[in-house]
Amino acid sequence: MGKTLFSRWLMPGLVSFLILTSPAEAASLQSWQFESSQNRLSFTTDGGVQPKAQLLSNPARLVIDLPGTSLGGVNRQQLIGGAIREIRVGQVDNQTARIVVELADGYTLDPQGVQFRGISPTQWTVQLPSPRSIGTPVPAPAPAPAPTPPTATRPSLPLPQTPSVRPPAPAPVPAPLPQQTVNRSIPQQPQTTLAQVEVRDNGIVLHTTGKMADIEFKQSQDRSWMTLDILGATLASRSNSTGKQVNRDGVTVSQVTQLSSNPPVVRVTMSTPKRSQNWQARSSAGGVAVWPQGSTPPAVQLSGGFAKIRSVEIRNQQLLIQADQPLNYSSGWDNETQSYSITFFSAALADGVALPQRQVGSPVIWTRVRREDPETFTLLIKPATRIEVGQISQGSPQQLALAFVGEGLGSPTPPSRTPVATVPTPDPRPLPPRTNPPRTNPNPLPFPPTQVNPPSNNPIPNGRAVVIIDPGHGGSDAGAVGVGGLREKDVVFSISQQVAQILQQNGVQAVMTRLDDRTVELEPRVDMANRMNATLFVSIHANAATNAAASGIETYYYSSGDRLAQYIHNSVISSFSQIPNRGIKTARFYVLRNTSMPSILVETGFVTNNYDAYMLGDPAQRSRMAQAIAQGILQYLRDNRY
Ligand code: ZN
Repeated sequence: MGKTLFSRWLMPGLVSFLILTSPAEAASLQSWQFESSQNRLSFTTDGGVQPKAQLLSNPARLVIDLPGTSLGGVNRQQLIGGAIREIRVGQVDNQTARIVVELADGYTLDPQGVQFRGISPTQWTVQLPSPRSIGTPVPAPAPAPAPTPPTATRPSLPLPQTPSVRPPAPAPVPAPLPQQTVNRSIPQQPQTTLAQVEVRDNGIVLHTTGKMADIEFKQSQDRSWMTLDILGATLASRSNSTGKQVNRDGVTVSQVTQLSSNPPVVRVTMSTPKRSQNWQARSSAGGVAVWPQGSTPPAVQLSGGFAKIRSVEIRNQQLLIQADQPLNYSSGWDNETQSYSITFFSAALADGVALPQRQVGSPVIWTRVRREDPETFTLLIKPATRIEVGQISQGSPQQLALAFVGEGLGSPTPPSRTPVATVPTPDPRPLPPRTNPPRTNPNPLPFPPTQVNPPSNNPIPNGRAVVIIDPGHGGSDAGAVGVGGLREKDVVFSISQQVAQILQQNGVQAVMTRLDDRTVELEPRVDMANRMNATLFVSIHANAATNAAASGIETYYYSSGDRLAQYIHNSVISSFSQIPNRGIKTARFYVLRNTSMPSILVETGFVTNNYDAYMLGDPAQRSRMAQAIAQGILQYLRDNRY
């Protein structure tokens, strides 16, 4: 459980709101959900939206773009299992949210069978046909010499599919879709860099380079502190603070941290002594301004100054742009010219720079410049037929690379799921090394031989159950830290992930409240469960105590979770007979009190106890723990006819 969690319950809730970098009338994606048993995706937005869809191959995936929509605080990814591998949600650019339904290798969908239904302009369902097997994937044949219209290879799905399911709002004819590669790593590419934090008298300015910052700003309810998250951002290696330590409002920047989340997030924590003051934040090209409501925002001056672009060229299937100053840009699809656009702020092309034009084998038909204002211009890039625009990346602040993917380009840009223009993603944090390595202990601790419960062939009766698996803590909150630096957040994540897998293999939809090492407050965990109308909620933690002798397993419930607690607790205890049974208890834990379905919290042992820590630090024992928890859940579902 860890001390941090206790302190969290006592902390006031956060007032959270998302600042949109797009126009005020833009919608945001409020929720989405996939019903495996029905093969149906549904989503809601808080404003009208006209989705566009296309089927892409290799791997087969249905890409649904929601123009004029940003991501709300929705779940970013859900592993489904079976023929549909996963569903993920990302932001393509400031104006477009994207939902990707990715199929497992060897499966595809009949695009004609995909049916959109607009229940209202803000509420949609997407009925998918049964995925069909295409056998083992074979390498793509050599490209045909004659160009074919993109629609022949990438069927676009005009919406609505049939006149009878017209959305209530008359929709314009959707424009042809951009031939954009959907990369598995779309939400993972760090595209914004925080270069400098400046405290000024009228507010705080966070200078950024790269893509305009996507931000999430929160002020605590008692208004004594606030956090600003820059999504998909990294901290510049030489980032520093300038200006004052404390400004006239007494605000201080207390911490700037790179969260090891995926996508990466830079979190700036500020404390504000004047509790009567509301603050706000706004992102613009070159940085983010944070200032007290009702006063003039500090001007965000571009940190890089005015950039001169020295060259624009195609090399190694990439468009490379080199400037003399850090580049600030935003990118997207230009509907007017049907080309890919990169808008540069506070920049100009240097005299005599030639733009790449069509040549034999060139991935572009043309490139053009459109002047937006004296300080801003857009580079338009028309990709050749059968060429897709891939990832954009910033190797250095002064350099930008846009990758092309497509037939005929050959290596080094395989049209596969590997990121094209790679920016190294942070390594997953390994478990800390244990100081007392019991593996080399000549007298091993008396564990019984690993008993693997045979996977039950008895399927869950009607496959409607949705089980939320909640790995405690994560990100900046390590939870309890015990023997040899063993961290609760790592232990419980590993167990949770395996529990979810076992459930999926048994036909039960398992949804995790975090999919990696990221900070998630308690409230969104509970919200997710309630919003999905989940069947069960299982929170997985590890214990800590100042008394190193404290050891054993205990399970908590609050109200309706008592029977679920028995199933899971008994399953774990019978699998780990050597560990003290601390029993089933009730507790007013936040996640138990606020979930509207049977919910439990299992403490899988004490990271502060030598014996328990050995168990929790050992991958084989963690798998056994996962197996025991999953079997308890499955038995509960069977006995209760879910
Ligand atoms: Zn915990």
